Amino acid sequence: MAVPKRRTSKKVKRQRRTHKKLHLPNMVECSNCGEYTKPHHVCKSCGHYDGKEVVEEK
Ligand SMILES: [Zn+2]
Repeated sequence: MAVPKRRTSKKVKRQRRTHKKLHLPNMVECSNCGEYTKPHHVCKSCGHYDGKEVVEEK
């Protein structure tokens, strides 16, 4: 069985998986209600897009 030649340094250990940490992916604040929605999508909570109401509220 292969044995590691060197012990993994603390630095290298800490650097592992830091580049894909979970965070809110591609979320923008709605200009109308301030809710976080996907960019280039109609706001789910108020139905606004680009400053205009696109979808009727239920
Ligand atoms: Zn909104």
